[in-house]
Amino acid sequence: MSYTWSDKVVEELKKRNVKKHVVHGMWTPSGFFHIGNARPELFIPTIVANSLKDAGLKVEHNFIVDDFDDLDKIPKGFDKNKFSQYLGKPLREVPSPVQGFDSWAAYFMSQIKDVADKFGIKPNFMSAYDSYQSGRYDEAIKIILEKSDKIREIMKKIAGVEKPKEWLPLMVVCEKCGRSATTTAISWDGEYLSYKCNRDREYVKSCGYEGRIKPVSGHVKIPWRIYWAATWFSFGVTFESGGKDHFTPGGSVDTGRAFAREIFGIEPPILYGTEFIQLGKEKMSGSKGNPISMKDWLNFAEQELLRFLYASYQPGKVINFDLKSNKFLLLTERYDMAERCYFGVIDKCLRHDEKRIAQLKRIYELSQIDKSILSLDKLPYQFSYSMAALYSQLYNEEQTIEVLKKLGHVNVLTDFEKKRISKRLRLAKYWVEHYNPSMTIKINESLPQLDLDKKEKGCLLGLLKELDKEWAEEELQQRIYDLAREHEIEPKQFFQLCYRILINKTSGPKLAGFILMLGKERVKKIFGNLG
Ligand SMILES: [Zn+2]
Repeated sequence: MSYTWSDKVVEELKKRNVKKHVVHGMWTPSGFFHIGNARPELFIPTIVANSLKDAGLKVEHNFIVDDFDDLDKIPKGFDKNKFSQYLGKPLREVPSPVQGFDSWAAYFMSQIKDVADKFGIKPNFMSAYDSYQSGRYDEAIKIILEKSDKIREIMKKIAGVEKPKEWLPLMVVCEKCGRSATTTAISWDGEYLSYKCNRDREYVKSCGYEGRIKPVSGHVKIPWRIYWAATWFSFGVTFESGGKDHFTPGGSVDTGRAFAREIFGIEPPILYGTEFIQLGKEKMSGSKGNPISMKDWLNFAEQELLRFLYASYQPGKVINFDLKSNKFLLLTERYDMAERCYFGVIDKCLRHDEKRIAQLKRIYELSQIDKSILSLDKLPYQFSYSMAALYSQLYNEEQTIEVLKKLGHVNVLTDFEKKRISKRLRLAKYWVEHYNPSMTIKINESLPQLDLDKKEKGCLLGLLKELDKEWAEEELQQRIYDLAREHEIEPKQFFQLCYRILINKTSGPKLAGFILMLGKERVKKIFGNLG
């Protein structure tokens, strides 16, 4: 049975009789890598690779680092004067903008390499530069030269791009200036490729050199549209996901598929167009200054949660994500619900929905990095993110556990459960401070200046008296409602009043639980001068 989109991909892939599946992602390391880029290039391939493994199939998972691409612009914030001399050079040959890295490419790749395995993502990182140099593309290059007429036809038929008759679809790396974007391949004699460095580009000028080289071992680069198919051919790729923009009619997916079949004689991989992340009102993008990196994510949420997000949504669906609204909390709740499902504790809203239950269990399974959790014999204690957001502002880990015990939420905790609580406290604290300061709570030390009427005062004194008794959360909540009505105050209004007294706000966490969490003594102290 296939319950998730990735299991459906596996069903499709199974039909291909191959010894090994090869799953790819790729990226040009010259800018910001955010969780929106990570979706098609890291997470979707990882989820598919894991699903293939779960189905007992052999998988190779590669991440192609496009460090043979050239530096075509200097991103904002980097020294234009220093780096403009490297425009047009392969990213691998441009020095790192920051000390401690071998190259421009290595520096930008560190955004991925430093954190990928924390998310349980462990592809083979393959440098395109090295692959070209080692001759991995030589066979593809030979075929391209043999079939350049056919390539020209496909470009015209599918992409509507007309190339001159003598066009050779390769970019020679100029032996003098080291650039490939500025050269034109002139002729091919079966052994040598003649070229001129004569194409001025917007970002770099040609040097005028003329020469001839053997088109092997990194002396030439394949233009993008053909390169994509050449990579499928050279690596035997069976699955790849890419940004939706590649999938427009006549775009690189259409030409790629045609090149795969008609030039390289292979069946193209199954390709999934993956949508972007909508952040509030805007698309998440490096240039909009709103991106969330994978490293950022580690500050405010569990890694499993991001895996869960991407395993849940069909790749073709835009994900509306917002750290500043309820959307994020809802995600944490969905994750916790899936966990309950996995351990057989089914929420009311899911009863009788066997399909959804099976799906959530499977997505939960795919989200796990440390699989040992899957063999626990019962549901571990769940400390909800919203509770963590509240507790983290008032208590440290030890105190939190103490209060949870006092309130009867937990009894004995395993080390694993304690660790989870501690982690959520840390994450939620960061989230409140950095993304949701409006949720910050400051408890009053004493009664704030308020103009209380007789009814209100009476009701508050009534509540104070009730606090002498032992209460369970639900009962106390009900009692507060009743108290308000007994004193002829709208319950909502009374709740607002309590929040004003406790935290100078008109709303807050569920009142009874909040009072019990603060401890009766503390609340009594604040109410103290009611007189
Ligand atoms: Zn040149």
